[in-house]
Amino acid sequence: MEKKVDICIVGAGPGGMLLAYLLAKKNISVLLLESTSQIAKSFRGEHINEEGEEILKKYDLYDAVEELGLLKMERLEYWYNGFLTKVIEADPAVGHLGIHVPQTHLLQVILQHAKECPSFSYQLNTRVTSLIQDEAGQYIGVKAKQDGEELLVYCHLVVGADGRYSTVRKKAQIDSEIRKHGFDLLWARIPAPKNWTPSIKMALVDGMQISLFTQVNDYVQIGWNIEQGSYSALRKQPFEPFIEKLIQAFPQLASAVRENITSWRDFILLDVFSTQSSSWGADGLVLIGDAVHTMTPTGAYGLNCAMKDADVLVELIEQQDTLKKLDFLTCGNMRKKEIEQLQMMQIEKEQGFLSQFEVMT
Ligand SMILES: Cc1cc2nc3c(=O)[nH]c(=O)nc-3n(C[C@H](O)[C@H](O)[C@H](O)COP(=O)(O)OP(=O)(O)OC[C@H]3O[C@@H](n4cnc5c(N)ncnc54)[C@H](O)[C@@H]3O)c2cc1C
Repeated sequence: MEKKVDICIVGAGPGGMLLAYLLAKKNISVLLLESTSQIAKSFRGEHINEEGEEILKKYDLYDAVEELGLLKMERLEYWYNGFLTKVIEADPAVGHLGIHVPQTHLLQVILQHAKECPSFSYQLNTRVTSLIQDEAGQYIGVKAKQDGEELLVYCHLVVGADGRYSTVRKKAQIDSEIRKHGFDLLWARIPAPKNWTPSIKMALVDGMQISLFTQVNDYVQIGWNIEQGSYSALRKQPFEPFIEKLIQAFPQLASAVRENITSWRDFILLDVFSTQSSSWGADGLVLIGDAVHTMTPTGAYGLNCAMKDADVLVELIEQQDTLKKLDFLTCGNMRKKEIEQLQMMQIEKEQGFLSQFEVMT
């Protein structure tokens, strides 16, 4: 099958989905391709900060997301071996210290808005496998597979919004430098005890870093920092002592933890790394979000950055005479510095974690 559109966006994460909507709103024909079969992901990028909130408000999406459900964090707490050592309250002018937005809520709202635009189309369960170039080397489309059938999409611009393992970036032979951060994350989710304040709790228990995030619908998401690459060795160890440290620090979670985290199988492992790419695109192609600058979970910047890339790109596209001439370098130049600064901030926050407990250690 063949299709022709102005812009083909690969990947319906926060970056690709927002860009598709914003372009469609401007009557630019856009096809959004997503490899998974439904817009429903969990355990990834579920907190947004003020900047993400601003973008959602700028495009009148915030209220609809709030209606589906979000949760504002009221406090940031630091716990050392079971004792509360520091509390940071939300600045009343801002009203929160980050917002938990289930990714399904965010993506569903943007998708619903996009569907109202006649120039928007999308396909799930469609994996982009390669890029199409003309004789001059300009990118003019993508090849994708849906249920074993090949789909050819011809377009004026390909946008790679396909995340940390970007096929578009690899196929365009754009190099990316990977930085490991020394830790991986194990995630699990339990029901929150009654009267659990919406909060972020950073805990240090016998040297183990654990973070707890209150979520909508009365859940607590828990992240354990483990040494990078250590999970397969850890899984061979008894499970109880690992979980015991959390219970020791937060005894009120004991029953929920014991009922919901019963073996290593109840964790999701996320390998933590960040990347910087040698370029933000090529002729006829632009990369946005994690595809061009993978972010770590620290500080909840990744989602905001992907949405900001979309926000900047859509304004650039509006200013260009034709899409073919779209200057991907301008997009990169406009965003690169800020992204590099945020990636540095992530590293500083990760390295400065222990200093938050300095008085105690
Ligand atoms: C453990 C963890 C926790 C995190 N927590 C936060 C947080 O709380 N807040 C925050 O802001 N950031 C967080 N981040 C970072 C955040 O998840 C990313 O920065 C953000 O999701 C990037 O958005 P994106 O749209 O660029 O890419 P993604 O969200 O990765 O979306 C890419 C999409 O492309 C699709 N895709 C991939 N390949 C193809 C293909 N070949 N064809 C078609 N579709 C394809 C994928 O299925 C996916 O839907 C976290 C990261 C990790 C690892």
